[in-house]
Amino acid sequence: MQVPKSKLPHTGTTIFTIMSQLAQQYKAINLGQGFPDFDMDEELVSAVNMAMLQGHNQYAHMNGVPALTEAIAEKIEKLYHTKIDATSQVTITPGATYAIFSALSAIIFPGDEVILFEPAYDSYIPNIEINGGVPVRIPLTYPTYQVPWEIVLEKINAKTKAIIINTPHNPTGAVFSEEDITALQQIIAGTNITVISDEVYEHLIFDGFKHHSILKYPDLLENSLVCFSFGKTYHCTGWKIGYCAGGKNLMQEFRKVHQYNAFTTNAPVQYGLAAFLRNETAYLNLASFMQQKRDFFLRAMQGSVFQPLPSHGSYFQCFSYAHLHDENDFSYAQMLVKNYGVATIPLSSFYKNGDDNKVLRFCFAKKEETLLKAAEKLHKVK
Ligand code: PMP
Ligand code: GLN
Repeated sequence: MQVPKSKLPHTGTTIFTIMSQLAQQYKAINLGQGFPDFDMDEELVSAVNMAMLQGHNQYAHMNGVPALTEAIAEKIEKLYHTKIDATSQVTITPGATYAIFSALSAIIFPGDEVILFEPAYDSYIPNIEINGGVPVRIPLTYPTYQVPWEIVLEKINAKTKAIIINTPHNPTGAVFSEEDITALQQIIAGTNITVISDEVYEHLIFDGFKHHSILKYPDLLENSLVCFSFGKTYHCTGWKIGYCAGGKNLMQEFRKVHQYNAFTTNAPVQYGLAAFLRNETAYLNLASFMQQKRDFFLRAMQGSVFQPLPSHGSYFQCFSYAHLHDENDFSYAQMLVKNYGVATIPLSSFYKNGDDNKVLRFCFAKKEETLLKAAEKLHKVK
């Protein structure tokens, strides 16, 4: 049989799978792929159980269970002071990755340019390319990972269809400021550029920083598709459920893609979430809960050879080893799994050309005992 012509000839297996497999193979502590190792809230588990027992087991409406889309609209109004229409502006999806893919598929025509910032979450570029779009990659400044807006301005042209932003940022933990939003507003004003905003870490933000969601800015929201993940918010990454909120016209196009892909999202989980979303403290306490973990991990790593970079959000903390070795970050990360029993993610995987500043990403959404054990192992690295 002939080998099929690849639509993504330069795409390999995602680094998250590679590092998790290595972690399993070497029985290493997995601080690589981003997922919690502690239990999720039992109240949410019970709410989903209850929904199943009550018979909510058939297809839900393609846009989502109204009780959930309405609870989301209420939450958005409470947090971001913007009234959005649950019926026409919110769609429940099987996760944020799916929402981002659907958003890009809905708007990109072959040859359209999409601006994104590197390091970039690894699905963005293949999502653009499979739709015939052209990724326009702009590096964030190193080591503070800020957006160089003057370069964005230079790259904008008649072919620019969209710009992807991600705050709090994976993999670096950088957070947009009010000034970043103002710069974005100035760039978008008077254009047809769509903003795809990846806000899966909206609640994981530290050090008194505020999350400047696109949802706070009606002028931006109209031209945006904003993606969220319940997996990240409620420590249930395996459930693969999230949502997209956005401008009405864009949402109409988004739904045309969604209806012939997944069509709809797991019904009982939606009913469970609709009930649980009313529990404000569950999401409002997340920032301090996760900041404690970041601080605990940073303290545990003090005195090791690794140098922390600033992280003010997400559940990732980056460390540099540039002062120690010249070895490329992927082989260094492999060495750490094999010789020291700790899995991480090398940051070069978030750059299309494999740019390598000798930085590794560690996920600290773990029990303290896990973080402590990992830090003990990492203290042995010289
Ligand atoms: N965007 C970013 C920045 C992420 O870190 C993740 C990882 N979970 C996702 C999107 C995908 O979220 P989900 O698991 O809901 O698809
Ligand atoms: N978002 C997670 C991370 O950055 C992983 C998701 C995945 O494995 N695709 O680690």
